[in-house]
Amino acid sequence: MSTSTLVPLNPNTAKFISQPKKMLINGKWVDSLTGERMVTINPATKEIITSVPKGGPEDIDLAVESARQAFDEGPWSNFKPAERAKLLLRLADLLDKNAEELSHLETMDNGRTLKFTAGLANVGAEHFRYFAGWATKITGETIPVSVPGNIFNYTRREPIGVCGAIGPWNGPIMTAIMKLAAPLAVGNTVVLKPASETPLSTLRLGELIQEAGFPDGVVNIVTGPGSTLGKRLTEHPDVDKIAFTGSTEVGKQIMRSGADTIKKVTLELGGKSAHIIFSDADYEVALQNAANAIFMNTGQICFAGSRLFVEKKIYDKFVADLADYSKNYTIGNGFDKYSMLGPVISEKQKTTVLNYIDVGEQEGAELIVGGDATEDGLSNGYFVKPTVMGNVTNDMRIAQEEIFGPVVAAIPFESIDEVIKMANNTPYGLGGGICTTDIRKAHKVAHALRTGNVWINTYNLTSPTSPFGGYKQSGIGRENGAAAIDMYTEIKNIWVNLD
Ligand code: NAP
Ligand code: MG
Repeated sequence: MSTSTLVPLNPNTAKFISQPKKMLINGKWVDSLTGERMVTINPATKEIITSVPKGGPEDIDLAVESARQAFDEGPWSNFKPAERAKLLLRLADLLDKNAEELSHLETMDNGRTLKFTAGLANVGAEHFRYFAGWATKITGETIPVSVPGNIFNYTRREPIGVCGAIGPWNGPIMTAIMKLAAPLAVGNTVVLKPASETPLSTLRLGELIQEAGFPDGVVNIVTGPGSTLGKRLTEHPDVDKIAFTGSTEVGKQIMRSGADTIKKVTLELGGKSAHIIFSDADYEVALQNAANAIFMNTGQICFAGSRLFVEKKIYDKFVADLADYSKNYTIGNGFDKYSMLGPVISEKQKTTVLNYIDVGEQEGAELIVGGDATEDGLSNGYFVKPTVMGNVTNDMRIAQEEIFGPVVAAIPFESIDEVIKMANNTPYGLGGGICTTDIRKAHKVAHALRTGNVWINTYNLTSPTSPFGGYKQSGIGRENGAAAIDMYTEIKNIWVNLD
């Protein structure tokens, strides 16, 4: 692909990456205590973008101390709900104002195409606006009790305290926003750690948080390895809650390391979501949905429709048409105005994805289309083509394990009961999709799926208003919507003797 179709880098993005990057602790931009640094690269070019502090446990201690102080001693705890709302609304406006700069930064650090990052900051702004609305609406209850005496019984909803937040690389700015909006609205303070592969948009968000006027220590942003710095955050006795988005494997480690201090946890983990295509579906809609459900963001979406169940009577034609359809995606550098799909995040991730394709073939699946993408200059980055695997059975590794790349495993089915059983036969329970024109079938299957999210004749939709999260090993708790308020508040029950 010719470089002349590359969109010029936003000057503010260029300026941001040219300045030395630091961590935000207690309102100051600081280096790590050891002075060590780590680089972040552009997965479309393998070029180093810049470096960020390689923080360690000792930096976490400072960040937690600052968050603790802002929570325990103020000023944050003295902010009125309407004042918290005002700051969140100001931050939302700053996201809108800097949307293009943030989009370019995200595309550069994470590889997502500009087509996907273009509106992200505006969506993020809507998250802050939605939760700003909640700030003034956190109410308790008055409860009639049948105990002796003249008793007044009521509840208060109070913030949990210091929240540690840890994010993945596949959607860095949105996960950061989702880990700030709800907790800040209800009065918590936060120590936020972005993934080491994609720290930049979160650091820029930190600057906007300061510009909005949040007091020092309310939001701290630390960079460094999860295995040391992240681990310390999950073990720290002064951290009240951990909100984590990432792999199920690390989610398990976090539950273990948080056990000694009984951390409250919200876990948004991996998935192997079933997308079920019935023969009575609107064929073209189903085809588009099936493709977008797995190939969006090059398959690096936790709820990607990576297991495609197709009713047997249309299976052969549908899978062949999907393979054809998948060739229409233009792969390339996210800054290319024609690119629809960017690279996967790293060499390691590309190797993992290609290995799974090999494993699938060894297990007897058929590689119909896709695989390594090295032609036309794509060898400059970590590109994998949209890949369709046919002849898959639900017990194969490619149908059971999360690949987190653009690989769909297509499995035939004959009856509703059979497909429900297969769809639920996985340790995961994040998303699910159903394509049919039969409304009774659609709801029946939606109710039977053991997953936190189901899309009918659509896919990939999320909203700040609507709860998102997983059943089974896909997680604990929910983000977004009223459910997120429950995740970030404690309920206190108070008894008053009125006599
Ligand atoms: P990951 O390897 O689990 O890492 C996620 C985060 O945890 C990173 O910031 C990582 O730091 C940190 N970390 C690693 N080990 C840690 C430890 N022992 N203690 C504390 N923190 C630790 O996940 P990923 O590869 O970045 O992201 C892909 C995974 O995220 C996929 O499984 C995907 O399904 C899942 N995901 C889930 C959702 C959801 O909402 N359910 C959304 C997006 C992604 P380093 O970067 O420094 O290693
Ligand atoms: Mg990067």
